[in-house]
Amino acid sequence: MITTPSDLKTYKNDLKRALQNQFLGATLDNFATAFKASRTKAFEGIDLDTLIAEIAQGKDEAIPYLEELFAAFKARAEAVGIKVHIARTAFEANSIIADIARANQVKKIVKGKSMTAEETFLNDHLEKEGFIVTETDLGEWIIQMRHEGPSHMVMPAIHLSRKEVAELFTKVTGQVQDPNDINGMVKVARRELRQVFLEADMGVTGANFAIAETGTIGLVTNEGNGRLVTTLPRVHVALVGFDKLVPDLKSALRILKALPRNATGQLISTYVTWITGPTPCTSSPDGRKEMHIVFLDNGRLALARDPLFSQALRCIRCGACANVCPIYKLVGGHNYGHVYIGAIGLILTYFYHGRENARAIVKACLNCQACKAVCPTGIDLPYLIKGVYRTILEVEGKTPVKNRLLKRVMGNRKLFHFLLRRAYLAQKPVAEGEYLRHLPFFFSSEHGFRTLPVVAKTPLRDMWERINPRLEKPRYRVALFGGCLVDFVYPEQALALVRFLKDHNVQLEYPMEQTCCGLPAMMMGENETARDVAVQNLKAIDPANYDYILTLCASCGSHLKENYPKLLGEEKGLGVKVEQLKAKLIDFSSFMINVLKVKPEMFRKSGKKVAYHAPCHLCRGLGVTREPRELIMVAGMEYCTATDEDVCCGFGGSFSVDFPEISAELLKRKLANAEATGAEVLVTDCPGCVLQLRGGMDQKSGRKMEVKHIAEIIGE
Ligand code: SF4
Ligand code: SF4
Repeated sequence: MITTPSDLKTYKNDLKRALQNQFLGATLDNFATAFKASRTKAFEGIDLDTLIAEIAQGKDEAIPYLEELFAAFKARAEAVGIKVHIARTAFEANSIIADIARANQVKKIVKGKSMTAEETFLNDHLEKEGFIVTETDLGEWIIQMRHEGPSHMVMPAIHLSRKEVAELFTKVTGQVQDPNDINGMVKVARRELRQVFLEADMGVTGANFAIAETGTIGLVTNEGNGRLVTTLPRVHVALVGFDKLVPDLKSALRILKALPRNATGQLISTYVTWITGPTPCTSSPDGRKEMHIVFLDNGRLALARDPLFSQALRCIRCGACANVCPIYKLVGGHNYGHVYIGAIGLILTYFYHGRENARAIVKACLNCQACKAVCPTGIDLPYLIKGVYRTILEVEGKTPVKNRLLKRVMGNRKLFHFLLRRAYLAQKPVAEGEYLRHLPFFFSSEHGFRTLPVVAKTPLRDMWERINPRLEKPRYRVALFGGCLVDFVYPEQALALVRFLKDHNVQLEYPMEQTCCGLPAMMMGENETARDVAVQNLKAIDPANYDYILTLCASCGSHLKENYPKLLGEEKGLGVKVEQLKAKLIDFSSFMINVLKVKPEMFRKSGKKVAYHAPCHLCRGLGVTREPRELIMVAGMEYCTATDEDVCCGFGGSFSVDFPEISAELLKRKLANAEATGAEVLVTDCPGCVLQLRGGMDQKSGRKMEVKHIAEIIGE
């Protein structure tokens, strides 16, 4: 049985231990790099956005009718001789399968890979009931012998080295195995398992599809063991989640177009097996296989009725949301999920394995959106993860002190800004130049990986009237959405913008009633506060009055564009404003390239070598990738491509405070990649990333690069 800590302290200790495992970090990193390339290649020539939208739509149309689809499936399957069962809980599913085994005098059971069987802990149950169960997928067999759960949904033993596998196989076979002879070890597994197949009385599999129209199940596998499990033994039981029901073959094939491509970068997996009814079977007394399908509910039907979380049932278990997750890449699946791994694991754990198992892991999310960007079914994973966190807070009725403070302060703009101004005075004893150098005890050594910036003496809003000129006949009227960091920490980023836009005859305005965008509140599960500040901001900046709403902060921009509709979509009278805001919102680089259409002759060519960090909320949140890079080159600088430019820098707002070791490791990798380019300056377009990167650069030893917001360097 898998154990996952429910308290943050134990969980953080587990994470720290995992970070020490250099083999794990290197393996997952290499795998992620290879996965990215093979996935891109596999989807070449396919309109991925359309495919995702079609799969999502198909799933969303099926999810409200899972019980009807089940009834149709049952009727068709029973007509061809399959016995169909329904299990409301994991225990019920395991008991039904054990009963089937007993009724058929089964002693030995072989299993194909099935996450649903992992979910119910089927092996444990069957073994307690006296059956001999053998996993036949190579990775699953390995972890079964090690008494572990899978660390990845597709590659369950990815956390193990060749050496560890060789040691295990040496123990099992009694013969020394060479860790460098992978083919030799595969042969050992084949030899051992072949005999097990021949002796098995019953085969258990999962299914990737259950087609209601025909009563067919579909299995997508790579090793061929699935075919042996379903054909050789005289009894076959498939354990299938309700969420695998699709109306027809067309729906299944649409998913199949994405599943292997998104899981392993294959155009199609080695085996795709469709089973409609029991096949002839010579080892069966009546010459025909006994076939059962057990449909598992275990919370799925309730989930299907939930207006927000039902999207999680779209999941097709491709595992991609783990492959790209920067945290998973550092700590592995045994620490980033419970039974289900990766971003979807942080969500499903709550619904399938309970609050205790979900409580700690659900906090470990940077909101970097890498998972959302690769999900072939379009699940808004980061949003649902925050939703689970919020639900746990609500159910437990415990509001952390920091949440209470945030609610009180952030909901009241005047109080919030008053406190920020006071912070300038309060920080004096620990401030040194632009950094806080001598922080008090509650900033433990764990937070020493970056230096924090000082609060600016004069916030942007206080200098605005003085610095921003009135233009006679401007080309555009633009409202600047500052965000807290630009307003109170880095006003110089906006000064650069003001100078630049004046030269281009653009009237920039700074509506004074604007406040924090509300993202920190949402990250902490305080949706009510996030909603309140969203209303304040929409009142402060009426999009109808401007040609564009420009922001220098990618995180604010992405929150305004993506989350305001979710927070305010139903709000009376605000729906239209939200749509206007979405349409007019623009980041700095897109404004320069697409609106002002800046040209190289407008700049003094410096030839400065510049590396770029793509903020998560710009490249994935706002979908802006080309413009910042183009702007760097148009402005006469040399753009030096860094490895993993679009991987999170580890900031994630309060994440970097809660999980400093993870944040520090991501930052270390980011800075090393930037340095390896030989660039003089590291440029980005989010003040949050500037805070993280500049603070990390200040703390590190050796060569230090300058870190600048793109507006600053362009302004120069
Ligand atoms: S948002 Fe980022 S950190 Fe969070 S689960 Fe997704 S990939 Fe991982
Ligand atoms: S949530 Fe999406 S990316 Fe993650 S396993 Fe499911 S389908 Fe794949």
